[in-house]
Amino acid sequence: MEKEKMIDAVEKRRTFAIISHPDAGKTTITEQLLLFGGVVRKAGTVKAKKSGSFAKSDWMEIEKKRGISVTSSVMQFDYAGKRINILDTPGHEDFSEDTYRTLMAVDSAVMVIDSAKGIEPQTKKLFQVCKMRGIPIFTFINKLDRDGREPLDLVTELEEVLNIQAYPMNWPIGMGKGLKGIYDIFNKRIELYRREDKDESFVKLDDSGEIIGEHPLKEESIYQQVLGEIELLKDAGNHFDAAKISQGKLTPVFFGSALTNFGVKTFLDAYLQFAPAPHEHRTNDDDIVKPVDDVFSGFVFKIQANMNPNHRDRIAFVRICSGKFERGMDVTLARGNKKIRLSNSTQFMADTRETLNSAVAGDIIGLYDTGNFQIGDTIYSGKKTIQFEKLPQFTPEIFVKVTAKNVMKQKSFHKGIDQLVQEGAIQLYQSYSTGDYILGAVGQLQFEVFQFRMLNEYHSEVVMTPMGKKIARWIKPEQLDEKMSTSRNLLVKDRQEQPLFLFENEFSERWFQDKYPEVKLTAKL
Ligand code: GDP
Repeated sequence: MEKEKMIDAVEKRRTFAIISHPDAGKTTITEQLLLFGGVVRKAGTVKAKKSGSFAKSDWMEIEKKRGISVTSSVMQFDYAGKRINILDTPGHEDFSEDTYRTLMAVDSAVMVIDSAKGIEPQTKKLFQVCKMRGIPIFTFINKLDRDGREPLDLVTELEEVLNIQAYPMNWPIGMGKGLKGIYDIFNKRIELYRREDKDESFVKLDDSGEIIGEHPLKEESIYQQVLGEIELLKDAGNHFDAAKISQGKLTPVFFGSALTNFGVKTFLDAYLQFAPAPHEHRTNDDDIVKPVDDVFSGFVFKIQANMNPNHRDRIAFVRICSGKFERGMDVTLARGNKKIRLSNSTQFMADTRETLNSAVAGDIIGLYDTGNFQIGDTIYSGKKTIQFEKLPQFTPEIFVKVTAKNVMKQKSFHKGIDQLVQEGAIQLYQSYSTGDYILGAVGQLQFEVFQFRMLNEYHSEVVMTPMGKKIARWIKPEQLDEKMSTSRNLLVKDRQEQPLFLFENEFSERWFQDKYPEVKLTAKL
């Protein structure tokens, strides 16, 4: 019976991330979804950048100041018999690494596209990570209430730029001021455009796809044009194929307007029908861990310090891969084979962080961390070792030298650096010759976040001296010779005491390699 309950619970889980370029409407659509889940009561509570109230998912001070979403957060709600976990991903390009890891913890992705802009660079990058993982991708083309590009043009671009097949589930009838509704191919109906506060209004279609009986829309030329486009799609477009969707080879495309809550529910209903329940995970030993296995397992995909400034806490975000999580359970941390009791956990409802009692595969739990966890860690119950495959790591590209402004405050400086580096968004190095601290990141914004948080959370004012772009290349400790270091290839060590060079540019790397052909340089550890 217990087992049946668990299977049922796992089947109900839908865990996904919304990916988009900044400003495409990710926050707005998230807010609408939360509304359907009854989590927030009125629109505008999740984020209102200008009015000074902010997304509940935006925890950190800096997010408020800059009006951007810096960290990925988790929201859980129930809708139509399903339990939905949305993992928020920061859209800003500088936070790509954090976002990439978050994408390792989901079963599907929703891609939001601005109908006036089409595929933008950040969408493309995030899409590629989803594609690499083969997870299903659902596309929502947003802002229909504004004039945008031709739908045919957008779908063609989607297929060509992203190299995926697209299947329009519905099709806009007009746009901007001329928006009449969406022609819902999948549900065989027309959803009429209406003001936000009005209920949905649908018009049925007959088998040939025409409106049944009299309707003013029939007189509109745009309706006739859409019928023509639908014919074209039928003849020349892709066929609906649920199997291809689940393999990530075909993306169902929905049109709508998140801001006016038009087409969002239609999207959500279809999404829940075709999005997968939690998937299996492969271990390093090539074993398959099934979501309904009895043994509990999960991995840490994100660590964040000081989520709640009133309680100085660090939270490790864990994606559950199998079994049932219960408060107070004993697990093994695969790295170092260490036993840990999980007594302090939290669940992420959008409005509060409630103490969590139990969770199953697909759910995300937050564990209060006292320094046990690292990103990528596997935890499991039971006797057999489980170690999931490594999460992708990205080599930092830009570097700064960092010092405490007030030399008397070294303690808080070191504490802050230690904790923030552990979150994984920035890397810490130390120069062999001078002992200087050097930070590396994938994007500039991460340094700004670091500086701000050092001041705000650790009362440590830091001075950062830009070093510009560098190419980080690790070498084997046994091949290390400090004399090989010059101003154009600075020798540093990472947190694990592994030596690496920071090369000025490709030229200096080639020069070095010519001079020391026997030294093996590697990009990632
Ligand atoms: P994010 O950066 O992707 O999270 O985007 P937001 O949800 O913050 O939206 C960016 C801007 O676009 C905001 O000013 C929204 O009000 C606006 N917006 C979002 N969805 C729509 C829409 O469907 N129609 C219109 N006209 N504006 C929208």
